Amino acid sequence: MPVKRADKTPMPVRAPEIRARDFGEVNEGYTLEHAVFEAERCLRCQDPVCVEGCPVKIPIREFIHEVAAGDLVAAASVLRTANPLPAICGRVCPQETQCEERCVMGQRFRPVAIGHLERFVADRERERGITATPRRVHREKVAVIGAGPSGLVCAGELARMGYGVTVYEGLHAPGGVLRYGIPEFRLPKAILDHEVRILQAMGVEIVCDVIVGRTLPLDRLFDMGYAAVFVGTGAGLPQFLGIPGEDLNGVMSANEFLTRVNLMKGYTFPDADTPVKIGKRVAVVGAGNTAMDAVRTALRLGAEEATIVYRRSDKEMTARVEEHEHAIQEGVVFDWLTSPLEVVGDEKGWVTGLRCQKMRLGEPDASGRARPVPIPGSEHVIPVDTVIVAIGTSPNPLLVRTTKGLETNKHGCLVTNEESGLTSKPLVFAGGDAVTGTATVILAAGAGKRAAHAIAEALASAA
Ligand code: FAD
Ligand code: SF4
Repeated sequence: MPVKRADKTPMPVRAPEIRARDFGEVNEGYTLEHAVFEAERCLRCQDPVCVEGCPVKIPIREFIHEVAAGDLVAAASVLRTANPLPAICGRVCPQETQCEERCVMGQRFRPVAIGHLERFVADRERERGITATPRRVHREKVAVIGAGPSGLVCAGELARMGYGVTVYEGLHAPGGVLRYGIPEFRLPKAILDHEVRILQAMGVEIVCDVIVGRTLPLDRLFDMGYAAVFVGTGAGLPQFLGIPGEDLNGVMSANEFLTRVNLMKGYTFPDADTPVKIGKRVAVVGAGNTAMDAVRTALRLGAEEATIVYRRSDKEMTARVEEHEHAIQEGVVFDWLTSPLEVVGDEKGWVTGLRCQKMRLGEPDASGRARPVPIPGSEHVIPVDTVIVAIGTSPNPLLVRTTKGLETNKHGCLVTNEESGLTSKPLVFAGGDAVTGTATVILAAGAGKRAAHAIAEALASAA
């Protein structure tokens, strides 16, 4: 094996002390020089095992080869054969546990920076503008419920195959978690807007402010002439801790907090009409991507002390490594092995503290992670003004409750055929977090793509 440069070309980032006080993007992106240099680290393996780690099977070796050759147009078209959201995935995918974890270079050195290269290629493609055009060849049209990554990708794939598609979105703007959850400093909304415009240029119609199951029953969609339905409604219902004091003023779910800041543009207050009051000391409970986004957002809104409170250790946290590293650089405090017992408040009903106890790690539990065990006598109160709960979400039951024939499992997730995404209801397919529970953007996108092909097959055989 030829020995190549051992280290990944680092991603240029903005200085922590500056970026932690604004909402500008943290990562600045590779230059052409960085990208070609990094692409040349790829060994062009005969058996590119990196692809095995990619849920949508991007031809990684081939697109990187085009970058090394300086042909960015060819690199973009290779990427797009497998991933319709490359600028987004290049920013938010957990590559360290996917393609980069498998990369052969990683056996001796640092893996090739596949994610950074994906982002670079997609960003350069965006500069060239939108060339997509509609291609309607089938008379059937399909309704998609939810404009998150699963719904958008399903819609895009159906439009590419020549079907009419309408996406119904409950919020006032498309994107799902990409818009209301992931903050501007990780995923600028201009990038999402560009991807949505490409879909619209392909003929996808997007209708916002329609909650299917409330303002429009699912079965009505068939009466309206849609031949099939894809459900990509995500898992946006927050879970709470179930401890005393959670009803105090100043306690909120991370979803509510991030939605106020991102979707409702709370970070531009008073330009936007969404005040977000968090005080000086903020505790975020949890250690996944959502918790990391919430705590870093709190810093940017002016918190002087922003703390992650997590009952396990950093080894068990589920947040991406990059987000954790960036949070440390920005001054986030990490209170590992600490479990909340009660939210403490004043006589006016406002939060003043979080009573916690210290934990130690025991044997693995059902999730395979070490079980946290309380340490007697370790109770203490962390003084805080705001508590943000980021311990997970589940699918919203609205659609299932108002639609006959949609089977769910004990977690409230839709039961589907793993390959096709077909639910228990004829011609209704589903994918993304609504089926798996909270997962990742690329898994949701992959499910949307698979379902689009299954829908096309079902419509072709019914014709
Ligand atoms: P969603 O993105 O949740 O979209 C569902 C859409 O359906 C929403 O727009 C919702 O408004 C709409 N909807 C719901 N019900 C209805 C209805 N009845 N009628 C009409 N519309 C409806 N993953 C990563 O890979 N990397 C990350 O860095 C990352 N960070 C994250 C940060 C946060 C804060 C959160 C919350 C999640 C993060 N994830 C990350 C997870 C990832 O975003 C999700 O797995 C992904 O968005 C799921 O896509 P989806 O299409 O299934 O659902
Ligand atoms: Fe290149 Fe790594 Fe994939 Fe091999 S495994 S083709 S070195 S990216």
